[in-house]
Amino acid sequence: MTNLKNNVKYVKGVGEARAKTLNKLGIYDLEDLITYYPRSYEDRSQIKKIKDITDGEKVSIEVRAIMPVNVRMMGRYKSIEKTIFTDETGNITVTWFNQPYISKQIKRGEKYRLFGKVSVKGSFIEMNSPVFDPIDKNSNTGKIIPVYPLISEIKPNTMRKIISNGLELTDKLEEIEPDYIVKKYNLMDYDTAIRQIHFPSSFENFKKARKRLVFDELMGMQLGLLKLKGENDDEVKGIKYSKDVNMSDAINDLPFKLTNAQKKVLEEINSDMENTKPMNRLLQGDVGSGKTIVAIIAAYKAVKSGYQAVILAPTMILAKQHLENCNEILSKYGIKCDILVGGMTAKTKREALSKIESGETDVVIGTHALLEENVVFNKLGLVVTDEQHRFGVKQRSKIIAKGDNPDVLVMSATPIPRTLALILYGDLDISIIDELPPNRKKIETIAVSKKAESRINSFVKQQVNQGRQVYIVCPLVDKTENLEDEKLSSATEKYEQYKKDEFKEYRLGLLHGKMKPKEKEKVMEDFKDGKIDILISTTVIEVGVDVPNASIMIIENAERFGLAQLHQLRGRVGRGEYASYCILKYGSNGKKTKERMELMVKTDNGMEVAEKDLELRGSGDFFGTMQHGLPEFKIANLFTDVEELKEVQALAIEIINEDPKLTQEKNKKLNKLVMQRFTSKQAITI
Ligand code: ADP
Ligand code: MG
Repeated sequence: MTNLKNNVKYVKGVGEARAKTLNKLGIYDLEDLITYYPRSYEDRSQIKKIKDITDGEKVSIEVRAIMPVNVRMMGRYKSIEKTIFTDETGNITVTWFNQPYISKQIKRGEKYRLFGKVSVKGSFIEMNSPVFDPIDKNSNTGKIIPVYPLISEIKPNTMRKIISNGLELTDKLEEIEPDYIVKKYNLMDYDTAIRQIHFPSSFENFKKARKRLVFDELMGMQLGLLKLKGENDDEVKGIKYSKDVNMSDAINDLPFKLTNAQKKVLEEINSDMENTKPMNRLLQGDVGSGKTIVAIIAAYKAVKSGYQAVILAPTMILAKQHLENCNEILSKYGIKCDILVGGMTAKTKREALSKIESGETDVVIGTHALLEENVVFNKLGLVVTDEQHRFGVKQRSKIIAKGDNPDVLVMSATPIPRTLALILYGDLDISIIDELPPNRKKIETIAVSKKAESRINSFVKQQVNQGRQVYIVCPLVDKTENLEDEKLSSATEKYEQYKKDEFKEYRLGLLHGKMKPKEKEKVMEDFKDGKIDILISTTVIEVGVDVPNASIMIIENAERFGLAQLHQLRGRVGRGEYASYCILKYGSNGKKTKERMELMVKTDNGMEVAEKDLELRGSGDFFGTMQHGLPEFKIANLFTDVEELKEVQALAIEIINEDPKLTQEKNKKLNKLVMQRFTSKQAITI
């Protein structure tokens, strides 16, 4: 029996060095390898006739070579190989580069199967660098080929080979769902599903395999959530905050008037806080809708009732921003706020910790550093997590455990359609701020193709000359990230290029996720302080940073981002008194891209964007869900698999009602599925 936990290096064709590369993809053992699913597929199984070929498509053809391969050397290492094939309906000229040995592999008069991209110019049909097999063999053609998400150090064909070797090594996989579920839902068995998802023998089988694996993932998540909710409902006694502390006392002192939505949400929070049952509430509100102030007012109530409050933020910069806001609003009531983040000196940290423990600090704001064991509270009564999708369930429970059933408020700017939210956040009550503060300038959104580059650049200069700042967001950090994405803009490259030519007179900054946290903070700080005019970055700037002076957000290859994410990025500008612009540069002319860009131009309502996103995503869209702040899945797609999600949810409710702790014999496997889901590397992120 093969052990699925065996190191991946023992798989044929891997070894020490390649194992390290696979580690970068999160593949450590055999199990990781065989559950590393394809991103998409290439159908090389349908054979086309040459006469039916259209320009630009990728096709499989079965043809005969009508002349020997002609090799033309162009210097020592460069060469061009050319020959002509026919399938009786037409001729096709085929060219390879720098592969002179092909002249020995392809013989005149013999038949081959070719797969590649064709160009048709009048009657001249051409194919460049196709893959090919003799007609009786189909290792690289004639079937459906998996396409894996890869990095440049590993070639697509190598990956296919390794996965195939891994599967060969694997004995029949044990079923992971209980029999009664497999039967009732007519699921493909687990072993077949895993094998078919990599090398489907037909699209029918691919669909069945995918459906099966999606089912497992959704089941693990839904059962886990429901189990959690059940545990939460177990008559836990929380804190009953005093009715004598009035939120309105603090609200009336604010420098602005709260929106009606903010007021309504605060009423909901207030009533939760005055109730014995611990608050467990999700606060959803578009970027800039003013969630922070809501959290601060809640903290006011907690502190004035004799408790401490904590606000957990995903980055140091956000933590600092929150601290400033807290001090501004709360210090006048004698409330003491402090910060705890990574990278503090030992002495400062020690002092901060001791003040938290003694209760001298009332409101603690910080990053992941707050989760550490040595952070001990005196009397923690309120936990707020900002940008909740950056934290996992485990992290949330870690901070909650530092208090005695404290009230919990999680905040999110991710506009998830309500139907989906109810399913996903099954264990939370939901409040929504559906209104922006009145002083907001509308952000003008413009979608342009690459052709408009120079016009855009002069607009940027004009704005910077007037004192404004600009964000430029690229989909990649650098070029080595993804083989197939050669045409995409990378932040590093744009930065180097702009520094040399277009924007050489300006102060440029570069920011991406591969930089050290300290470097990132520094760049963001400099941008905030106006020391950088144009910030070129990846999506790391997405999270809640407030730079009121920034007036332009340019997004390169906007077609590569989810709509919800585009909307989040757009929300980085328009936060001050200046007219602001979001410029979406798209690099593809597809119908879908156009439709998506038009939608962004037309609406500035986050919820509308999210709902449209759901509608526009076809099944061919394998984009991850990370960008939406939704739980991360290996294969399920919460947007396209909504129907499955509903079905699984109904079933999960049935199961949990009958067996709340999943202890019955028949549900043993389900319990394992849940444990896996909640402890795996890609643990659920809500
Ligand atoms: P988000 O919901 O994205 O976290 P913030 O809480 O950062 O938004 O608020 C964005 C900005 O709006 C802040 O500068 C905040 O002070 C301001 N703000 C919040 N509520 C109001 C309001 N009712 N009227 C005017 N400005 C407000
Ligand atoms: Mg925020």
